[in-house]
Amino acid sequence: MRPSVRPDLARLSGYHSAQVDVEVRLNTNESPYGPPGAWRTEVAAAVAGLDLNRYPDREARALREAIARLHGVSVEQVFCANGSNEVLQSLLLAYGGPGRSVAVFEPTYQLHAHIARVTGTGVAVGRRTDDHALDLGEVAQVLAHAEPVVTFLCSPNNPTGRAEPPDVVDAVAALAPGLLVVDEAYGQFARSSALERVRHEDPEDAATVVVRTFSKTWSMAGVRLGYLVGPPEVVEACEAVVLPYHLDAVKQVAGRLALDHVEEMEERVSLLVEERGRIADVLGGLPVDTWPSEANFLLFRPRGRSAAVVWQGLVDRSVLVRDCSTWPGLSGCLRVTVGTREENDRFLEALEACLR
Ligand code: PMP
Repeated sequence: MRPSVRPDLARLSGYHSAQVDVEVRLNTNESPYGPPGAWRTEVAAAVAGLDLNRYPDREARALREAIARLHGVSVEQVFCANGSNEVLQSLLLAYGGPGRSVAVFEPTYQLHAHIARVTGTGVAVGRRTDDHALDLGEVAQVLAHAEPVVTFLCSPNNPTGRAEPPDVVDAVAALAPGLLVVDEAYGQFARSSALERVRHEDPEDAATVVVRTFSKTWSMAGVRLGYLVGPPEVVEACEAVVLPYHLDAVKQVAGRLALDHVEEMEERVSLLVEERGRIADVLGGLPVDTWPSEANFLLFRPRGRSAAVVWQGLVDRSVLVRDCSTWPGLSGCLRVTVGTREENDRFLEALEACLR
């Protein structure tokens, strides 16, 4: 008899975006731009000099030091892993588990609840308002009832694009009984960041942990690198659960060298923010509901048309967006990633044709 999978896992389905062979892929919030040419050359030269017969630096010291300098924190406050999803998983391996729970406020990034369930952690679900804002009364109620070890915020929130203003993050931190984990995968596109809270910790509040990624603004989704900035004891806890040498030498070098190209990254962010504004303006004149976004994507809901039909109509015109219509609180909604100007024009033309 072969063993069956853990019964609690058998009920879970994975988190995947449909991959369809199209010309314009605007479904996974990647950067449409490749990494800077100079970075490619520098990485190739650095990799050629690596002793790949040896295990990498287990502490990823040089990379963590570079990230610490970028954010004005100490190296002991930085933990790196293979994408921010692995950072989130490490956090929940360390702090979650049977008898413990996390709190999420839907609609939000589905992986927070998914990773919690995979690690045997309970999930307390609160709802956002109809325009996807946090309702602090609801937050207080959920946190008082569940007493979660981790309270997740996602800011800007995937897939709504809404960023939490600092006073709202402060209010949640004052209510949260454990860690407050702010997922800022799209943080560079937003006006504010919870990093300020990590730099100036208030001992009265929940300890704040900010999670970031190289996948979006850094144009490095293929490298798989993410990190957290938080209190040193959280970093130590994550180091305790992660596998030995989890971060390979090539990735450590690639990440460290990327941090020498902050200006190019900021230029890309500006271009994408400008394009986001242009898309939002056009959507405003179409029969769709939209919401303000501080990320590199926009959520929209076709009025009087099924999301599935519009999604297929876009695919028929070789444009792929994310169908979020079955996600909690997002009935009828689609999400489009901001691409290059040409890609965005293709999307807007295809959408207008679908809605005609
Ligand atoms: N957090 C959020 C909110 C995301 O949208 C994503 C990417 N979909 C991630 C984390 C994970 O990113 P990665 O593992 O590529 O760093």
